[in-house]
Amino acid sequence: MKLSIKQYLFINLFGALVILYGAFFNYYFVQRDAHAQVIMENILDDLSELGYSLAKHVRKEPLYTTKSLIDRKVITNSYIKSIAIFDDDKLLMSTENSNEVAIVSAGELYNKNTQSIYTELINKRAVEGNFHYYQGKKLKFLTILFYIDHQAIKSSFAKTNQQFIVLITLFPILVIIGIWVFLTRLVVTPLELLRQYAYYQSSIPTPFTIKEIEYIRASMAQTFSRLEQEKKKLYNLSITDPLSGLSNRTYLLERLKYIIADSQRNKQEFALLFLDLDHFKRVNDLLGHNVGDELLQNISMAIQSELRLNDVVARIGGDEFVIVLTHYNNSVELIEIIERIQRKLSKPWLIQTYPINITSSIGITIYPKDGCDATTLMKNADIAMYEAKDKGRQRYYFFTKELNEKTQKYIMLNNAMKQALEDNEYHLYYQPQQDINSGDIIGAEALIRWISPEKGIISPNDFIPIAENNNFIIELGYWVLEEAIKQKSLWEKQGIDIEISINVAAKQLQQHDFVTQLQNLLTQYSVTPAQIVIEITEYVFLHDNDDIYKVFHEIKQLGVQISLDDFGTGYSSLSYLKNFPIDILKIDKLFIDDYNSEKGAIFINTIITMAHTLQLKVIAEGVETRDQVDFLHAIKCDYFQGYYGSKPLPIAEFNQLLLPKQS
Ligand code: C2E
Ligand code: CA
Ligand code: CA
Repeated sequence: MKLSIKQYLFINLFGALVILYGAFFNYYFVQRDAHAQVIMENILDDLSELGYSLAKHVRKEPLYTTKSLIDRKVITNSYIKSIAIFDDDKLLMSTENSNEVAIVSAGELYNKNTQSIYTELINKRAVEGNFHYYQGKKLKFLTILFYIDHQAIKSSFAKTNQQFIVLITLFPILVIIGIWVFLTRLVVTPLELLRQYAYYQSSIPTPFTIKEIEYIRASMAQTFSRLEQEKKKLYNLSITDPLSGLSNRTYLLERLKYIIADSQRNKQEFALLFLDLDHFKRVNDLLGHNVGDELLQNISMAIQSELRLNDVVARIGGDEFVIVLTHYNNSVELIEIIERIQRKLSKPWLIQTYPINITSSIGITIYPKDGCDATTLMKNADIAMYEAKDKGRQRYYFFTKELNEKTQKYIMLNNAMKQALEDNEYHLYYQPQQDINSGDIIGAEALIRWISPEKGIISPNDFIPIAENNNFIIELGYWVLEEAIKQKSLWEKQGIDIEISINVAAKQLQQHDFVTQLQNLLTQYSVTPAQIVIEITEYVFLHDNDDIYKVFHEIKQLGVQISLDDFGTGYSSLSYLKNFPIDILKIDKLFIDDYNSEKGAIFINTIITMAHTLQLKVIAEGVETRDQVDFLHAIKCDYFQGYYGSKPLPIAEFNQLLLPKQS
């Protein structure tokens, strides 16, 4: 059981009170008896003196002459009410009339052998004494009775009793109250104040009187102030990025909470910028991490110097910064600030004697248009930043709803794409390629379709670029290759003698085992290599040419044909056409669409003439009208492909197209 100081105090003081009262009462009774003793001795003295006087007197004079003597005694001793003299039971004389001094029984007489003189004095009626004398020769015994004046005795004691009661009740109570107040004020209250101080660490209590408590107070104050300083230090450490000295992500999120609340209240917008340095990794890789770190420090300072006091800049990752701009009047001003930052960062840096050029990509979100909370704003700014990177870096990009949809779709497809292969959701459709003179189907281009039970048919334009991005194209491309070659072998078994064109992405060609895989498939399904056409877009020349050149040759060595897809849209140069082993040029739909303009016609014509000079066949893609076919026929294009012939079809339907040819 735990007791409070007050409880201890109460119990102890109560005990002390009991002891004090005991002592006081004991003292009181002793004092009272001493007082009673004095009174009694006084009475007994008077009694014996009177006896002596009377004995002397009555030898010579009759008894009644002593009346004045007796009366005087009653007057001089205030504790004696009256005096009577008896001869045995016969009243001889009295100071009162006879009925008041009636005979007193033995029990009513003072007995000096009892315990308390006081009780005798208060309770007994009279004190008895006697004297003797000779009447002639006869010895005579007379009894004297002193009647006690109880009234006088009581009032004599009442005075001392009063003083005593005042003393006995008030003194301990006063002492106890004194101790109580003393302890409460000097110990209990200070301790409670210290407890509160320890708990809330609010304001330091004012100095205390008791030395020990005061020491505790002072050392607590010291400890708390030290802890407070350390807390501040730790907090500052926890909210800053040690490398740059800028805020870190934690502090950014905290500040954003306030900025958002503020903007909401004032119905104001603000801009959140996600800045990422372009190719920063190269600096680290080429010049080492300390150069990279120093560059980051310089860039951090440069960004900060472009901002106002209220703006926030935080470094939230290696080379990622978030900037929150709250004070700009319109988007023109906002763009000016952004461009100023980018210009400043793109100035050449000199770090440890290394001149460094670096650019940055920035994604921008606006509160509340693009998001109402920190997470959404950051996420969307990140999306916009990636778009800026995608669009060629060293630029800024504002987040838009369309961009978001695109990203959402990207994420969705990116996640579902692999599962779709396991679930057999990919299919090849076939589009006929026809001879321009005879109209005969001489081949088919295999075009992939993703038929999802939930999302329906998804265009390759939507998922092929993503698959190229996340490398899934390697797995998927292999599936296409095998599927198409399998189909080709089926046709061969059915006696259908047409070519098959298979689209292959640059990433696939870059795989060191692509050619081996192709070769294995050719053997496995024992198809005629010469009737396999690999369609490669001319964007392939963006990659390392030596490797591509090697792959082209290896493909050619297998006896497989190569068709340059989307010709005219990208990076072909005449030298590629001359040096690379290409069999077919596939003129892009863009040019075919433009066949009836003068320039368009000349362009198509020129390509065909040039291709024929280089011994290449030409196929026109995206042919939709009879007029286009006629035009292409006139300028001696070799083949055509397009909706005019047929849309890409599932295999069963495509095979139907071939039927008339069979019969
Ligand atoms: P591409 O290789 O240039 O294929 C031609 C695209 O034009 C096909 O679109 C085809 O359906 C479409 N097309 C053909 N004739 C006409 C026409 O007369 N009018 C119009 N408006 N369009 C026509 P698709 O099938 O949507 O494929 C789009 C692209 O996706 C392809 O362009 C190709 O780059 C890529 N792709 C398709 N399948 C594969 C594949 O299996 N592997 C790889 N790597 N890429 C593929
Ligand atoms: Ca193609
Ligand atoms: Ca094409």
